[in-house]
Amino acid sequence: MSHREKSIEIALGRTPLSFTPPAEKITDLFASDTFSEDVMRSLLSPEALQKVENAMRGGTPMDRDVAEEVATAMRSWASSKGATHYTHWFQPLTGTTAEKHDSFFDLDSRGKAIEKFKGSALVQQEPDASSFPSGGLRATFEARGYTGWDPSSPAFLMNNGAGGKTLCIPSVYIAYTGEALDYKTPLLRSIHAVDKAATAVCQYFNRDVSRVITNVGIEQEYFLVDKALYFARPDLVMTGRTVFGHSPARGQQLEDHYFGSISTRVNAFMVDFEFEALKLGIPLRTRHNEVAPGQYECAPTFEDMNLAVDHAALLMDLMQKVAERHGYKVLFHEKPFAGINGSGKHNNWSIATDTGINLLQPTTKPKENLRFFTFLVNVIKAVHDHADLLRASIASASNEYRLGAHEAPPSIISVFLGAGLTKMLDDLMNRGEVELEKGENFYYKIGISRIPNLTRDNTDRNRTSPFAFTGNKFEYRAVGSNANSASAMIVLNTIVANQLIQFKNDLEVKLQAGEDKKVAIVDILKQYYKDSKAILFEGNGYSEEWKTEAAARGLTNITNAYEALACYTADSSVEVFEKTGVLSERELKARYEIELENYVKHIQIESRVIEDLSLNHIMSTCVKYQFKLAQTARSLTEMNMLDEAQPIKEVVSDISRHVTVIKKLVYEMIESRKKANHTAELTEKAKLYGSEVKGYFEKIRYHVDKLELLIDNEDWPLVKYRELLFIK
Ligand code: ADP
Ligand code: MG
Repeated sequence: MSHREKSIEIALGRTPLSFTPPAEKITDLFASDTFSEDVMRSLLSPEALQKVENAMRGGTPMDRDVAEEVATAMRSWASSKGATHYTHWFQPLTGTTAEKHDSFFDLDSRGKAIEKFKGSALVQQEPDASSFPSGGLRATFEARGYTGWDPSSPAFLMNNGAGGKTLCIPSVYIAYTGEALDYKTPLLRSIHAVDKAATAVCQYFNRDVSRVITNVGIEQEYFLVDKALYFARPDLVMTGRTVFGHSPARGQQLEDHYFGSISTRVNAFMVDFEFEALKLGIPLRTRHNEVAPGQYECAPTFEDMNLAVDHAALLMDLMQKVAERHGYKVLFHEKPFAGINGSGKHNNWSIATDTGINLLQPTTKPKENLRFFTFLVNVIKAVHDHADLLRASIASASNEYRLGAHEAPPSIISVFLGAGLTKMLDDLMNRGEVELEKGENFYYKIGISRIPNLTRDNTDRNRTSPFAFTGNKFEYRAVGSNANSASAMIVLNTIVANQLIQFKNDLEVKLQAGEDKKVAIVDILKQYYKDSKAILFEGNGYSEEWKTEAAARGLTNITNAYEALACYTADSSVEVFEKTGVLSERELKARYEIELENYVKHIQIESRVIEDLSLNHIMSTCVKYQFKLAQTARSLTEMNMLDEAQPIKEVVSDISRHVTVIKKLVYEMIESRKKANHTAELTEKAKLYGSEVKGYFEKIRYHVDKLELLIDNEDWPLVKYRELLFIK
């Protein structure tokens, strides 16, 4: 039996795991595996609790004694729940989460076994970090990086599968010299930047606002593939996507999978990981089938961004662990299958005040709507002015396959507002010079008095927009399913904070000149709107016409990740990052370097997999099958059945033609890879990989996919699309 046949047999033989939901009510279960404020309240002295809460709100750092008390409480809580180890849990720039488990167990000075977790170990650790990417920030001779406790994200217990639990302490990861080596550090800085800038702007409208919170709800799309089938596809194992595979007769054209009923086995997996997620405080609420066969989505309720981003990263890890016991592999790759939909992480972004106002929520109160328009227009302007930077924030080797392809947002950044809002903004533009009038008349005159309810039921949805306003939030849909959301959120927060600082400056100039506040605000918004109108697009983002129109509007369409990433180091980017204090120029350059290196490595691996599969799987299979055919043709010829032999001979030569081309292309690809490898300069190397080496992928695939149709199904070595997508 071939590997393919065996794997299909295993996959078909699986039965749904019977799953008993926990007995507790969800409200009791929720966050029960986290060191929550409730737990702290029961275990810490009031003074310590106060200090931790201060630190959680980004206030004063904790002193030693408090850290000691918290560590002791954490250990006793964690041990009582079965934890034996602890780790700082952090998000290095590799894109996954990192942990290094240490045991609570230790020996005291007399060699007696004890349990120990010191305050210093809670606050700071030094992982052996030389193998995490640092983009030159950390020369290997001083290969020191530190992880530091982030008290604003609660510690949690991770089930190790085979038994035992680990206390995970969300942490930042910084170099010896203090530069950020992770996602969390700049994310926290960017959240702070938004807070500062937005709170200052809020003062013009609501003096009682003392803090602005950035929220995000992250929808996660993914594919599920049976584990046995997965391991029979070396390309999935090595690259997360299929590099070959002919489209199945039935793809997603029937559109019967979207919101369709969920198969029992898939459902068991979903329910299982949802309970695990709830215990970790991840507020999962939604589950459904997605458009493509084998594709699904889950979404939690939105949260404070630092938490939401931690949760999104943790969830990916958790889903993969739970999938294991259901015989699945989760594919988080943005484009695991050609010809059908890819996957994204839709980031639903909004900002809210500590007094409970969503700053992107339109209302029926005229006065509040000036505030709403202020924030709305500033976001639009920020996206307009830094569209390329936003594009860079979602660039990766894997998202490159998705953007602009089959039912995915294009690489052109644009903003969708919906007809209602667009009309209102146009009104605002077109009314003559506004003059101050008493009472609410002012707002009526400028056309922003009452905003019809823009809840999601009546905002027109545009699924083709990379960045859409959806009632009371912006949905950034172009973020890759495999990405750490922080990357996109850092940029979005930074450009918005920067824009709000700009707005305040512009407004102050007018106020100093004695202008009325309301009139001045409206004037500035009008100007901003005029300056950024080019970024607004309501039409079909998937269409060819949009590409032409966008070009005419001067919008960029950067299809290559390596070009998009270069925007990180543009002068204008350095300026916004430095002005907002989110990343220094050195940190930005390091990040750019790391991203480019990642890009090169991914394409290099794909190229090697394509080479291996072509030569060792496909070509060898073809040769064997041709031999069978040739033997048959010879027998027929010997029997003088020449007419019967002819079509068989033709298949033999058809196969030969494809095999010849594949061999030629693979060797050319190897040569181009060598050339790229000999290129020392990283930008140039990434370009060679992204254009030349990658240029062979589709060409080779074309012939391999043709061969899939020519070779006897019994002999084809790779699990086929119909098997990967439909066996569940
Ligand atoms: P969809 O129709 O796109 O699935 P949902 O209403 O289900 O929209 O929301 C998707 C995500 O957006 C969820 O994570 C939800 O919690 C989040 N969300 C809803 N309101 C807000 C908001 N004001 N700010 C940020 N995220 C929000
Ligand atoms: Mg959505």
